[in-house]
Amino acid sequence: MELIDGPRLLGLIGLLAPDAAKRLLELATEGDWTTPTCGHCGIKMVAREGKSGSFWGCRNFPRCRQRIGMRSCYGFSGNGKT
Ligand SMILES: [Zn+2]
Repeated sequence: MELIDGPRLLGLIGLLAPDAAKRLLELATEGDWTTPTCGHCGIKMVAREGKSGSFWGCRNFPRCRQRIGMRSCYGFSGNGKT
């Protein structure tokens, strides 16, 4: 019976993880994880204000209409305004 130490076990898990999913995760959380990345353009989205509230919009708008609704779970609380 073969013993597997911690780091090697983690390595094996890494091999088992679907590469596509891992790349998607890296793309979505690249750099500042609080700022989503446009899955279509692969660039950081920007905070925008809309009629229905705040949302993340693609920098390529209006060519790209990707948008993500802002939720409290992102921890976004404005620009330091109190
Ligand atoms: Zn885009």
